[in-house]
Amino acid sequence: MAAMGYSAEDELMITREFEELLARCKRICKREGDEELITRAFELAKLAHKGVKRRSGEPYIMHPLAVARICVDEIGLGVKSVVASLLHDVVEDTDYTLTDISTMFSPKIASMVDGLTKISSATSAETSEQIESFRKVLLTLLDDVRVILIKIADRLHNMRTLSSMPPEKRIRISSETLYLFAPLAYRLGLYLVKTELEDLSFRYMHPDQYAEIESKIATTSGQRKEFIDRFNAPIIEKLRAVGIDFEISGRVKSTYSIWNKMRQKQIPFEEVYDVFAVRIVFRPTPIVPEKTQCWHIYELVTDIYASNPDRLRDWINNPKTNGYEALHTTVMVPAEEGEGTWVEVQIRSERMNDIAEHGLASHWKHKYTPESVAVSSSDINFDVWLKNIREALSSPTDNAVDFLDNFQRSLYTSEIVVFTPKGEIRKLPTGSTVLDFAYDIHSKVGAKAIGAKVNHTMASIYDELHNGDQVDVLTSDGVNPTKEWLDHVITAKAKQSIKNFIKRYRQNNIERGMTLFETRMNELGIKPSARVFRKILPAYGSRNKDEFYSKLGADLISLDNIQEILRQNSAKKLLKFWTFFVKGKDDEEEQDLPFDDFNAKEGADDSKSQFDIAECCTPIPGDTVTGYKDPETGRIIVHKTNCPELTKLAAQHGKNLVGNIHWSSYKEMSYLSIIELQGIDRIGMLLDLSQVITGQLNINIRELKMQSHDGIFEGYISLYVTCVEDLNNVMEKIKQIKGIERVTRRENETTENNG
Ligand code: MN
Repeated sequence: MAAMGYSAEDELMITREFEELLARCKRICKREGDEELITRAFELAKLAHKGVKRRSGEPYIMHPLAVARICVDEIGLGVKSVVASLLHDVVEDTDYTLTDISTMFSPKIASMVDGLTKISSATSAETSEQIESFRKVLLTLLDDVRVILIKIADRLHNMRTLSSMPPEKRIRISSETLYLFAPLAYRLGLYLVKTELEDLSFRYMHPDQYAEIESKIATTSGQRKEFIDRFNAPIIEKLRAVGIDFEISGRVKSTYSIWNKMRQKQIPFEEVYDVFAVRIVFRPTPIVPEKTQCWHIYELVTDIYASNPDRLRDWINNPKTNGYEALHTTVMVPAEEGEGTWVEVQIRSERMNDIAEHGLASHWKHKYTPESVAVSSSDINFDVWLKNIREALSSPTDNAVDFLDNFQRSLYTSEIVVFTPKGEIRKLPTGSTVLDFAYDIHSKVGAKAIGAKVNHTMASIYDELHNGDQVDVLTSDGVNPTKEWLDHVITAKAKQSIKNFIKRYRQNNIERGMTLFETRMNELGIKPSARVFRKILPAYGSRNKDEFYSKLGADLISLDNIQEILRQNSAKKLLKFWTFFVKGKDDEEEQDLPFDDFNAKEGADDSKSQFDIAECCTPIPGDTVTGYKDPETGRIIVHKTNCPELTKLAAQHGKNLVGNIHWSSYKEMSYLSIIELQGIDRIGMLLDLSQVITGQLNINIRELKMQSHDGIFEGYISLYVTCVEDLNNVMEKIKQIKGIERVTRRENETTENNG
């Protein structure tokens, strides 16, 4: 069909390009009708994009044609993908709908085009909602990785033609490419595509630095070639002698990777570029396994050059998650004078090389060939990766930006291989801790982890794991995940599980607290009105109902005093439950001080006490106290007898002191006190502390703060006690906990301030 809107010249160019594409597709068109399907897709796209030009002036249809070509040639995708890539902009940019595509082609093709349309609308938005939708899109797309691969091909072509875009758009598109598409390509094993995407982004984002590195590479290339040729000569000789069919090449580092290293390590071009690497790609002989042949070549090379055993990388027995297989070794080339040079030698079979350069799609290509047994383990790896990504993507609590960061990191992080006690292999990102490992085994194991035996030696759950570690997680039912754990895990799964637990735990506590509260209110026959909450929330140090319920549910506070609290006008007057008596001079009879003078002032409703607790030293029942009669209000402020503030007052207004004050009837009440702690940090310290205090002594903790540094921790606990006896008892028990070095009662808050 001759579409209107194309000039004769354009028609010719388009037809040529399409014929070239068809020729390339010969290899993949295995079923009858495949070529016809591709042709129909092309014709629909051509018609739909009719009259539209790209910024470069080319007819728009040249873009989908180029993307389809990349899919076949560079990624190795099949017929459906070619069809979808030809149609990838049709629904987004023209009047055709998904229903049209579905009827004209198939529901499968329509769903691929749908995915492609969604990604592009997701990545072109500017807000964080964009990330949110990008996440959703990726999640659905993971069911069909081909859609992501086509999207990468689309991005690659756009990057190749980016020069026709205005500068600010170039920067935006390049950053996005560098941040998302290059890592995605890497993770999917598209090494060459990833390198090209990076180099192109780099070129548009930093044109000057790009040009500088390019020119430096050009001027040193002669020397480098000479060195590599000299290095290769004896290897070539030896491998030929034993009849190996191979190619050897000096590997050229990409411009971007040189720049990135310079920037990351703060080193000059020369130091980065002085790292040499060569690659040996061999065609395996039948019968002998590829693996064995790799090791054979390794032996031959290390017969010539001394190798560094620390730098041997065996990606053959343990392929990378993206499918990469190879043997890497680093050997020393002695210099006639001065220092020798390290050269990295990569050994790969043709199949391994294909996977290394073209990634996942090559997996599929090789998957059904007879000698493909070795590939299956990489397929499993890839499935594992997909599963992890899916878990990370479906995380409901991460905010959009966190998610994107996590996702992006999960694309690039390198891996360590660790073992279960039974010798089963687990792969984790570098930097993973015992906790990450525990959660990788199962979220239930993670949640109960208390430590581990790493290579038969005790380790903390926070300890970082290393390649080859054998890890046996120790669990305990007494353990629960805490917020602190989040600082010691890096895997998405662990983070997610811990966050979920904390959220659920808090929710459970809120529900439990609510029930406890309602039951108690019922018993007392009180309706929990807003007025009730206004009184109790501050009294329990809670900012809102949820916090109150959650503290109550976690047994951090008790309702023992609720009646007294409700009887008061405000929370502050909680302190007034403390009653005092003053011993008469003649010691005749203990009696409460008269208070009539004050009732008039404060209103009949008010407490009958005329005592206030000094805020500077907050004495508790049992403390030796002295009163100070405020000359203005006439109220007696009760200080600890040794309070520096009181000493000051006594010095100035000695006549206002009221001695002989004693505590009375305080048994029912709880008072807030602060204990300061110091000791040697160890796992389970917090657990022991809280067990001693709330478990054995049944005292309520209001707040517990710990800071640990260099194996030492410091902190304080504020808790409710009924009297000094109680407090001393707690302190005595805490002193007996292993690792605790110092336990002191915080005596006087204002001393510090005044000092
Ligand atoms: Mn496109």
